[in-house]
Amino acid sequence: MRKPKRFVIIPAGGTGSRVGKSRPKQLLPFRGATVIEACVELFRGNTILVAVPPRFRKDFEERIADRAQLVDGGATRFESVRNVFQALREPRDEDLVLIHDAARPFLDPKDLESAWRRAASVGAVIYASPAVDTLKRVDARGVIERTLDRDKIFHAQTPQIFRAGLLRAAYAHFDAHPAKVPTDEAGLLEAAGIAVAIHVSSPKNSKITFREDVELLQTQSLRIGQGYDVHRFDSQRPLYLGGVHIPEGPGLAGHSDADAAVHALIDALLGAAGMGDIGHWFPDTDPAYKDARSTELLKRVWAALKERGYALVNADLTIQAQAPRLAPYLDEMRGRLADILETGGDRVNIKATTTEHLGFVGRKEGLAATATVLLRIGENP
Ligand code: MG
Repeated sequence: MRKPKRFVIIPAGGTGSRVGKSRPKQLLPFRGATVIEACVELFRGNTILVAVPPRFRKDFEERIADRAQLVDGGATRFESVRNVFQALREPRDEDLVLIHDAARPFLDPKDLESAWRRAASVGAVIYASPAVDTLKRVDARGVIERTLDRDKIFHAQTPQIFRAGLLRAAYAHFDAHPAKVPTDEAGLLEAAGIAVAIHVSSPKNSKITFREDVELLQTQSLRIGQGYDVHRFDSQRPLYLGGVHIPEGPGLAGHSDADAAVHALIDALLGAAGMGDIGHWFPDTDPAYKDARSTELLKRVWAALKERGYALVNADLTIQAQAPRLAPYLDEMRGRLADILETGGDRVNIKATTTEHLGFVGRKEGLAATATVLLRIGENP
C-alpha cells in the first residue's frame, strides 16, 4: 500500500489584532528567529503550506520561503485553512493533513510521530490538554447550574491531523448544511458526524494570544549590546557628536561625519540584535557614505531593528574627550538621539569625561565613545 503523504497547513493569516500589536505576532523574534520560523521548523521534512496576511507577505517570504509554500490567507482563520486545503493538489483520501496554529511555537515535537500514525489509523486526531481548573456551567444569569466532570474536559489545541478524505467530506457537509463557523477544524468534522480522537498534550503547548503572552515572550528576550568607537581630530572638518554640531571643534577625521558617539550607539544596537556591525552595514569604501550624517545611518539601523520587532529599553553613552568641553551639549545630544530612536529622553543617557590628560584622548589626538544598549521585543513603551 502507498504510504500516506503528509501535508502541513499553518494559518498565519491574522494580523494579531487580539494581541494589540500592529505587526503579526508570528513575526516577533523567538529563540533566535521568529515565531513563524519556529513553527515551520517543527514540521521540517513535510510539505508545508502557510496562509499569510497579504499585507505582510514579503516579511513572511524573507523568513520561510525556503522551507514552505505561501498562500494568501482569507478573512478568517477558517477561510485561510480552507483556502490552503483547496490549493493542495488533490491529496488522496488516505493522505494526512495536519493543521497547526502559527501562534503555538511551544509544541514539543517529541511525540508528533505517534500522533501522525494514530491519525493514519483512526482518521482524525487532535492535540488537547486536560482541564486543570474546576469547571462550572452557568445559566443565562451567570448562576452556576452545575460543576462539570473535569476528567472528561479537554482544551482543544493544534496540531489537528485528519485524513484528507475526511476533511474534504466535512467541508462538503458544512456547505450543504450551513451552520455557525466552527472555531477549529475538529468542530467541522464533529458537525459532520466524524469521530475525532484526542492526543493528550501539555498546557505548555499554549497559544500566544493575549498581550500578557507577548509580554512573557518579551521578558525572555531582553538583549544587551555594546559599542566602542575612536576618531582622530581633524581641524579642517566640522565637529559632530551625538548628532549635534559643536562649533568649538576641532572636527574628526573619517569617511562619514565621524560622529564617534553615534557610531558607538549604532554598534551597540546592532550588537544587541545580533546584526553585525556598522562597517558591515555602511562600508567606508562605499562613496554613498562619504561625509554622510551619522544620524541618517542611525535612522536606518533603527528602522531595521523595529522591522525585526525590537524596542529600546535604554541606551547609555560615554564620550571620552579632553576637549572641547561637552557638558553644555549633552542635553541636546540626548534629545536628538531619543527623537531618532522614537523614545523619551529618560531612556537615553549621555555622559562626558576627560581622561585626566592620559593617553591619546588626554593628548587631544582624538576622542572615543562607548555605548551600551538594552533591547526588548515589542513596541517602544
Ligand atoms: Mg567610526
